[in-house]
Amino acid sequence: MKRLLLLSGKGGTGKTTVSAALIYLAQAKAVADCDVDAPNLHLVTKQTTAPEVFDFLGGEKALVDADKCIGCGSCEKLCRFDCIHIINGTAAVNEYSCEGCGVCSYSCPVGAVAMREDLAGKRELYHDDAVFSTATLKMGRGTSGKLVTEVKLAMIKNAPTCDLAIVDGSPGIGCPVIASVSGMDLVLVVAEPSGSGISDLKRLCKTAETFQAKLAVCVNKYDTSPNHAEEIENFCKEQQIPFVGKIPFDPMAVKAANEGRTVAELDCPAGMAIRKIFAAVQDILRTNDA
Ligand code: SF4
Ligand code: SF4
Repeated sequence: MKRLLLLSGKGGTGKTTVSAALIYLAQAKAVADCDVDAPNLHLVTKQTTAPEVFDFLGGEKALVDADKCIGCGSCEKLCRFDCIHIINGTAAVNEYSCEGCGVCSYSCPVGAVAMREDLAGKRELYHDDAVFSTATLKMGRGTSGKLVTEVKLAMIKNAPTCDLAIVDGSPGIGCPVIASVSGMDLVLVVAEPSGSGISDLKRLCKTAETFQAKLAVCVNKYDTSPNHAEEIENFCKEQQIPFVGKIPFDPMAVKAANEGRTVAELDCPAGMAIRKIFAAVQDILRTNDA
């Protein structure tokens, strides 16, 4: 089974639109949404059964027993992350900034602080026509890389025998992106034709290079800035990165999303461009095989 990952240097490039269209064209039987901070692939993939749901435990947080606390302030003094404070004579923890180091618990003279597992999100696994793995991280939790790895592994472990698995990655170049790159046969970057889009693309290529990932690039809404689109194409030529196509701005893409369909299902310019991109991606995956 080949594994294709879609990334973009930032949000709003249309990465999920392209992912959903490729999933439709490939009739992919193994799919994952690794954008755990804002998953939305489920809006266009068609789930008909309830998922298996798993708690995601993302480390420990301090919990104060107010009945035991004597308000001595020792924990407040020792916390290096400034996240436990005495309020009305009792210690209170800010769960968003607590790093789970355990110093407060260790130092409390009356044993009023316990460390508890933090429910940092939930992971879901659908077994419909296709295996679909996805997850949602709770606000303010910083363990997205670990959750992305779990989402990806769940897809791989449960995938039926099939040719192609497609993973919609996180935007940006942070921890969740790095976690999603490993084990992929090809990373398709959906670039935005703008100055910031080009610098995001360059940073993303550097990150992918560090992890020795094979890359291909396409541009979405290229006609909103043809000069920038050309600059991206030239950059790919210079770097010998396969440039697999340009998708025009197309109001039908919005119509398709509003109807819960993919743009590849419609006879429209964006759909046609994505079909060509899909063919080019298949060629690269086949060539990589040879
Ligand atoms: S566990 Fe560490 S970070 Fe959290 S409140 Fe206690 S001392 Fe602060
Ligand atoms: S160290 Fe213990 S007793 Fe003292 S304020 Fe903190 S939680 Fe309360």
